[in-house]
Amino acid sequence: RKFVYDFTEGNKDLKDLLGGKGANLAEMTNLGLPVPPGFTITAEACRHYLEHGSLPDGLADEVNRHLAALESAMGKKLGQSDDPLLVSVRSGAKFSMPGMMETVLNVGLNDESVHGLAAQAGDERFAWDSYRRLIQMFGKTVMDIDGDLFEDAVEDVKRARGSDDDGDLTAADLRELVDRFKVIVREKAGREFPTDPREQMDLAVEAVFDSWNAPRAILYRRQERIPVDLGTAVNICSMVFGNMGLDSGTGVAFTRDPASGQQGIYGDYLQNAQGEDVVAGIRNTVPLKELERIDKASYDRLLEIMETLENHYRDMCDIEFTIERGKLWMLQTRVGKRTAGAAFRIACQLLDQGLIDLDEAARRVTGDQLAQLMFPRFSDRVDGVQKITKGMNASPGAAVGKAVFTSERAVELAGRGEEVILVRRETNPDDLAGMVAAKGVLTSRGGKTSHAAVVARGMGKTCVCGAEELDVDVKGGHFTAPGGVTVREGDVISIDGSSGEVYLGEVPVEDSPVVRYFEGQLPAGDGDDLVKAVHRVMEHADARAALKVRANADNPGDSARARRFGAAGIGLCRTEHMFLGDRRQLVEKLILAEDDDGRQAALDALEPLQKSDFEGIFEAMDGLPVTIRLIDPPLHEFLPDITELSVRVALAGDEADAKDRRLLEAVNRLHEQNPMLGLRGVRLGLVIPGLFAMQVRAIAEAAAARSRAGGDPRPEIMIPLVGALQELEAVRDEARGILAAVRESTGVDVPALIGTMIELPRAALTAGQIAEAAEFFSFGTNDLTQTTWGFSRDDVEAAFFSRYLELGIFGVSPFETLDREGVGRLVRIAAEEGRRARPGLKLGICGEHGGDPDSVHFCHEVGLDYVSCSPFRIPVARLEAGRAAI
Ligand code: ADP
Ligand code: MG
Ligand code: MG
Repeated sequence: RKFVYDFTEGNKDLKDLLGGKGANLAEMTNLGLPVPPGFTITAEACRHYLEHGSLPDGLADEVNRHLAALESAMGKKLGQSDDPLLVSVRSGAKFSMPGMMETVLNVGLNDESVHGLAAQAGDERFAWDSYRRLIQMFGKTVMDIDGDLFEDAVEDVKRARGSDDDGDLTAADLRELVDRFKVIVREKAGREFPTDPREQMDLAVEAVFDSWNAPRAILYRRQERIPVDLGTAVNICSMVFGNMGLDSGTGVAFTRDPASGQQGIYGDYLQNAQGEDVVAGIRNTVPLKELERIDKASYDRLLEIMETLENHYRDMCDIEFTIERGKLWMLQTRVGKRTAGAAFRIACQLLDQGLIDLDEAARRVTGDQLAQLMFPRFSDRVDGVQKITKGMNASPGAAVGKAVFTSERAVELAGRGEEVILVRRETNPDDLAGMVAAKGVLTSRGGKTSHAAVVARGMGKTCVCGAEELDVDVKGGHFTAPGGVTVREGDVISIDGSSGEVYLGEVPVEDSPVVRYFEGQLPAGDGDDLVKAVHRVMEHADARAALKVRANADNPGDSARARRFGAAGIGLCRTEHMFLGDRRQLVEKLILAEDDDGRQAALDALEPLQKSDFEGIFEAMDGLPVTIRLIDPPLHEFLPDITELSVRVALAGDEADAKDRRLLEAVNRLHEQNPMLGLRGVRLGLVIPGLFAMQVRAIAEAAAARSRAGGDPRPEIMIPLVGALQELEAVRDEARGILAAVRESTGVDVPALIGTMIELPRAALTAGQIAEAAEFFSFGTNDLTQTTWGFSRDDVEAAFFSRYLELGIFGVSPFETLDREGVGRLVRIAAEEGRRARPGLKLGICGEHGGDPDSVHFCHEVGLDYVSCSPFRIPVARLEAGRAAI
């Protein structure tokens, strides 16, 4: 087994092994781009280390060999005192985790080699700057010392100098910092800063491995649903120096605007700087365009490389580079993160450039991104609210909330259900929890590649960054804006991540153009290129999809909207919502009825109401199937709350209303310890005479009426919570009788399918039998998840799911994404055995999973006919259904 790969040995497809950074460094090396030589220790070595607490056998030998080869290629030894080879030790997992894992630069420096470096470079200042950076990064990331201690020391020395720019520090200042840093290390870590170059390197490698399990890395992975056990690779890369004076520097770039997708020169550059200075927002960067003036040759070379990379990766790339005394070096590239809108635009631009085809364009966008584009945005009419400044549009969306200035406060207020905007000068990885809790993020410093911008974009969170006019005082809990505006914690602000505008007060929000397009209010062909791009991709997805997408809707308005959004029918029309409001009284009567006549009278009163509901829905879905689920929830849900009613009756004593008494008696009678597993679904139909019959008659009569009016109603009657064939047969026989009777009395023959939900493990396991009596199956995966895991959805999510996610028992709640191995296995069994018993059996899914991208892919794999989801998720499901088929 090989644990170490030279940059010349890897390639971009080896991300599992080499991590994204290592794989792409190798790819660039092999493309002949200027990458400083180095090698990568695999993620497999990391996994071994994390599992066993020790490095795998043979790793040390391999590292020795690769280091020796690197040293001979560079003509100097690691840390050699008169001319040291220095390296960076860089983490890099399969999925990019910005700011999560640690990197240590200038490894190999010590009290001797710092002089060698100074002599070689002819620059004392540079050498001491590099050395102090090493101790600082090493102290923080390898020795776990609070980074602020180092920062404070830097501030101290700057203050003594009377400057606020790192660039003003002299060699002597930096040398003093080195001494101070060593003291900090000694005091805080209880040991000396290690001076042996190889020891530095080995410790840094282990620290990178360990950082895989740093709390913020764990949090980020959970956010991004990255598996917990991948581990990270480590790259050992020979150093090049951006801090060798004004003809040196470091920068980041995108080949296109990651916010809009526009082609152009996007990035930031910082002269005489190293490493993360440019993204940390600690000094003022210049726009990349300025590099043309500063160093034309490097600028031209960079543009050339950017084009090479775009053509090679056939995608937008982001890049980290360093210029050492006029020589350009590439330090990283990857397919760049982008906003949802940019993803659609870029996919279509690349399509037009002929770099990718339509299938690939659809692969390049996701349902989650489409969902983001459907978020509301600010309305143009912003009367009465004051625009206070404009920053950079780092991550789109519209967010309104109370200003808070620390991550802790954001978490605290959000925990109380408040909406907050996290306002910071700049963010760092410690702000992650606050960013997750906030509706949006506003910073006064840093560009589109700053931590705040990158992380917010990844989370799909609204972000305005670099609003430089704002003076943010975190300790004082306020910020000031031009014109004497002061915003304190708790004041409501609105931030527009698409334009960068910031308002004092609450701005009204409106529908996104993408939603207006789906609504048919915006023609596909004109206006926004975003709408055009979405239209093109959706058309292709629809053409490719094998799965149909239906809607969960139970009123004509939702049905009509679902249809505009592209629904191929209704997969779940719940009937219980139709029993609420004014009709609750009728349901009460039904439950309280003391004899058959009383019960029938209540049912008779409900029937015409149900009938008219169904007529409206059939009309909205004319010509498309409408699956109506007969009443499912336990009846006590329609009665008053047991405690309230008991108190009322008790307080009234002898005076208590007779009706209240009867009601209380009924509530007590119907009370269940476990309503989820109690008298509901098909059980109600079998126990309460006439209830299902009334619903079936209402469906049949409504269909007959629609048909007489020239419509094309296509009802499908669905029986919930069936566990045994016999249950279904009993209800089906009754329903057939009623359908025949209505056919007789109306003279209209409307075919209606009768089928069942599969939402109990027993139903799934006996699906072959059940299919004899069912013309279709619809997987009710909410209940099927509850009953398979034995989780009560209403209770477990708050109680212990976060702990389960932390422990990695699952990466995502099984109520969000269908659990393929468990619940999914039951679905497979039922689908197979059902179809075997009844070829052509129609299969669908109607749980919340129907609108979840990963679950849609699963449904495609299992060969279901359709998924059903809420009207607003329909475009997302359509897109994913298409992508699943590509
Ligand atoms: P991250 O994953 O946080 O982007 P990197 O490993 O890319 O971390 O390191 C951060 C920055 O450190 C790089 O963008 C680059 O500026 C600098 N850096 C890393 N390795 C070297 C090197 N060998 N020479 C010069 N600078 C380096
Ligand atoms: Mg970093
Ligand atoms: Mg990097």
